[in-house]
Order: sequence, then structure tokens, then C-alpha cells
Amino acid sequence: MVLMEAPVVMVGSDAVEVDRRLIAGELACPCGGRLAPWGHARERVVRGVGVLRPRRARCGACRLTHVLLAVSCLLRRADAVEVIGAALRMKAAGKGHRRIAEGFGRPASTVRGWLRALARNAERVRSVCMALLVGLDPLGGPVPAHPTVFADAVEAVGACAAAARRRLGVLGAVSPWQAASALTHGRLLTTGGITESINTSSPLGAPA
Ligand SMILES: [Zn+2]
Repeated sequence: MVLMEAPVVMVGSDAVEVDRRLIAGELACPCGGRLAPWGHARERVVRGVGVLRPRRARCGACRLTHVLLAVSCLLRRADAVEVIGAALRMKAAGKGHRRIAEGFGRPASTVRGWLRALARNAERVRSVCMALLVGLDPLGGPVPAHPTVFADAVEAVGACAAAARRRLGVLGAVSPWQAASALTHGRLLTTGGITESINTSSPLGAPA
């Protein structure tokens, strides 16, 4: 599994769209500069998505290079965010990792890894999503509370993604979990980086 250590910019729901927007000069660095093509990162296989060779891009202003990760993926995970998100929702509803793993045909250890990673991140994911939610939908009602922080985090992701989809019509082709991936810059299950990167760019790649 290739680890993507470089800063990640989340864009588009597929590689063709990422390439098109990059070449058209539509993608901005978190610093505000324009990104230009800069080769590719190493190839990786993402189950449910396919073989990916993510684009690298370089900012003309700050000179940083970024890996452009499609919103169908999460940083350092070999499964599509759709699959991982569905597993997280099942866990929030009380299912154990073995039954979830059986349902998806994935190793129990892989699923346990996802669940533990969100459990570690749950409070941060919840608070980041709740803060975003206030900005996206200031008049929205309260989000239902659950017995566990894990379930609260999953609820907050869903509420936030739904609000983002309502607010930004460009998200038509992006699913709620893909929106969640974009909102957390691919770091839903990765320690560090969510809060730091969350406000630095248009999180959903909407046109400026
Ligand atoms: Zn920059």
C-alpha cells in the first residue's frame, strides 16, 4: 500500500474529472495559487474503484507539490470510501466487525482497522463536521445524539455531507461518503491533519 505523505487536495469523483480540471487550471492550492500537472504518484489498487495512479500537481505560488486524491478514496485505505462508510454506519448501528466483514467479503482485521481508526478520530471528526455544519446550514436543527461518540461522529458526517450537497449543487454526482472524504481531505480515518487542512481550501472542489 502506497502511503501518501504529500499534502492531499481532494478533487472530483473520478480520475478523468481530476485530470480535466487540473489541465483546465481549475484546481487551487490550499494557499490560493493555481495547481499545474506535476507527474504522478505511485500506482495503487483501491478495491471498489480500480487501479489508480493519482496525479501530482505543483502550486505555482508556494511551490508545494500535492497528491490529487479522488473523493472516492481515503488516504492510506485500499477500499472505496463507499464501502468503508457503509461499514462505519453498520458499526454505529451496533453491528460487530466480524459480521460487517462477512457482509462485505473483507478480512475481519481490515474492517476492525477501519472501525478502530474512526473510534480514535471520532471526537475530532464529530467536532470538525459540526463546525462545518453550522457554516453550511446555520438554520439547521439539532443533530440527533447517540450513546457513543462513534455513532455521533457517523451522524455528524452524514448531516454535514447532506448539508454540503444541499448548499453546493455541483455535488450532484458525489455521494454522501465521497463528500465526507472531501470534507476531511481524505483523512476520515487518518490521525492528524483534518483540522489543519479543513479550512484552507474550498473543501468540495466547488468552482471559486
Ligand atoms: Zn500553494
